[in-house]
Amino acid sequence: MKITDVEAVILRLPNLDDIACDGTQDALIVRIHTDEGISGVGEADSSPYVCKTIIEAPPSHAIARGLKHVLIGQDPFDVEMLWQRMYEASIYYGRRGAAIHAISGVDIALWDIIGKASGRPVAQMLGGAYRDRVRVYASTLMPERPEEVAARVRPLVEQGYTAVKLGWGPLGRSLDLDVALVRAARDAVGPRVDLMIDIGLMYDAATAVRMVRLFEPFNLFWLEEPLPPDDLAGYARLADAVDTRIAAGEEDATIYGFRDLVERGHVDVIQPDIARCGGFTEARKIGHLAAEHNLLCVPHAFSTGILVSASLHFAATLRRGNLAEFSVQESPFVRDLLRAPFRLESDGTVRVPTGPGLGIELDEDVLERYRYHS
Ligand code: MG
Repeated sequence: MKITDVEAVILRLPNLDDIACDGTQDALIVRIHTDEGISGVGEADSSPYVCKTIIEAPPSHAIARGLKHVLIGQDPFDVEMLWQRMYEASIYYGRRGAAIHAISGVDIALWDIIGKASGRPVAQMLGGAYRDRVRVYASTLMPERPEEVAARVRPLVEQGYTAVKLGWGPLGRSLDLDVALVRAARDAVGPRVDLMIDIGLMYDAATAVRMVRLFEPFNLFWLEEPLPPDDLAGYARLADAVDTRIAAGEEDATIYGFRDLVERGHVDVIQPDIARCGGFTEARKIGHLAAEHNLLCVPHAFSTGILVSASLHFAATLRRGNLAEFSVQESPFVRDLLRAPFRLESDGTVRVPTGPGLGIELDEDVLERYRYHS
């Protein structure tokens, strides 16, 4: 089997709000075609415009090439070797960030092809699924005022979510407001639902230690990204000082980034995003790292249904860590891009797709409606 084409399709909402910290308003979809008529789909959660260029750029020299030129004519089953070739071909401008995000989109599509060609779901091709459904947490943005929190989260609990995360928005602007927002969130979800708070990089280490202690009465399942991702010394200071789980990793890419986060940052929960960390090929190594250190590994996923599917397949392969993020944002890319959208089961889980590859089908009408032409 040979790769014949690599497509990078940008989707964008016409009314995109670039002040909101909401990554569900545009997307980069990667489609890879083969000479056997099998096509795979993936996505990169990044700047779609930058990643499209990284895929399509003509070669500058041996280690500054667009990914497409590495892939054409290659066999998708050589996925691990192709990952390494893409990494080497982009090493001058890549190694982390957008280059790895673009590689992630390609890698997801290659695994989709491998699964389709084998007639088996990706989770099985990755080594086997421990479960056929994965517990998910509802993920949404923190409302501006404590009085608005109940209206945002009570419907989620009523729908059957057993875990809820609120993040970004006003968090970090005022420490008193942060305590009031977290109290309102705990009051709204009740005592039995797991509650996570995502500070969105707003604290320094000393503030974070103090705030985690103030949040202790609200029994958080984890506190996410209180510090900027490069403050690994701050993460270590915080994680060593408090009992609440500290979660991070959505900004990180490759096993190298996650090894630093674990060994230097001492975090308790790592959150690789399959559409950013390097796709399944790298997420698998990150999952092994988490198992080695007995840490929770919970995939970050705040984009389209393609990433939801990838995250469910990956989470199903983790021995420990039966949990994945599930965005409840009202974006058509979350809700409508798949012909059969994911649904919450009555026990707060979502079924891992059982069809070949990712086990999803895109709605071509939605794809065309939001296709962005630069
Ligand atoms: Mg986050």
